[in-house]
Amino acid sequence: MKQVVAGNWKMNVTATEAEAFAAAFEPQGLGAELLLFPTALAFGALARAVAGRGIEVGVQNIHWESSGAFTGEISAEQAAAAGASHALIGHSERRHLFGETDEEVGRKVSAALRAGLTPVVCVGETLDERKAGRVDEVITRQIDAVLGMVSAETRWRIAYEPVWAIGTGETATPDDATAAHRTLRTRLVERLGGGAAQAVPILYGGSVKPGNAAELLAAPEVDGVLVGGASLDPASFRAIAEAAG
Ligand code: PEP
Repeated sequence: MKQVVAGNWKMNVTATEAEAFAAAFEPQGLGAELLLFPTALAFGALARAVAGRGIEVGVQNIHWESSGAFTGEISAEQAAAAGASHALIGHSERRHLFGETDEEVGRKVSAALRAGLTPVVCVGETLDERKAGRVDEVITRQIDAVLGMVSAETRWRIAYEPVWAIGTGETATPDDATAAHRTLRTRLVERLGGGAAQAVPILYGGSVKPGNAAELLAAPEVDGVLVGGASLDPASFRAIAEAAG
C-alpha cells in the first residue's frame, strides 16, 4: 500500500495563497498518496490549481445533514459536489475546542460515506489521559464510535494524533506511534476481519516535520502522516512526502 501524506491547513491559507502553494509545490517523483485539506474558502482555488497533478483535496469538517438550516456548516454532499475526495472528521481541535462528541463523529462518518467521500477519522488522547495510562481505552472508545458505520469494504483512513503532540513541537516516538497504531489495528481486526483491517491506512499526526518524518514513516504500522504546520510550506511538505514510501 502507498503511504499517505496529508496536510491539514486548519484556518490558514487564502485562495490566492493556495494557488501560490500549488505553483510552488512539485509533486513529480513522489510515490506517496498526497492529500491536502484547505479551508472551504480556499478549496475551489486549490482543487483547480492541482487538478491532474496527483494531489487530492478534502474538507476539514462536514455536517451530518445533507442540507438545511445549519448556518455556517457544509454538508458532505456539497463537499463532494465541489470536488472533495476526503473529509477530515473528529480532528482534536474539533473535539476539544468545539465540543464535538464521539456520537457526532460517528454521524459525520456516515454522512461522508453517504456522499462518497473517504473519511479520515482522527483519534488521540490528551496528555492527562496518557499520564493516567488510558491511551488504549481512549482511542478504542473513539474508534468504536465509528466502527458501526463502516464495513470491511469501506474506503476510509484513521489518523492517530495524540492531542499533546499537535502544534506543540512535541512528537510521539516511533514506538509510541506503533503501540497506538497496533491497538487500533487490533480493534479493526476484531471488528472487520484481518484482510479488511490491513487495508485501512493508519496515519500518525502530531508535529511531523521534515526532520522527524522519515523515522515516523518507517515505524511499523505507520501508513502515512497527517501534517499541520509543516504542510503550509511547499518545500517542507515535499520533504516530508519524499520520506514516504
Ligand atoms: C494536525 O493538525 O493534524 C497536526 C498534526 O498539526 P501539527 O503537525 O502542526 O502538529
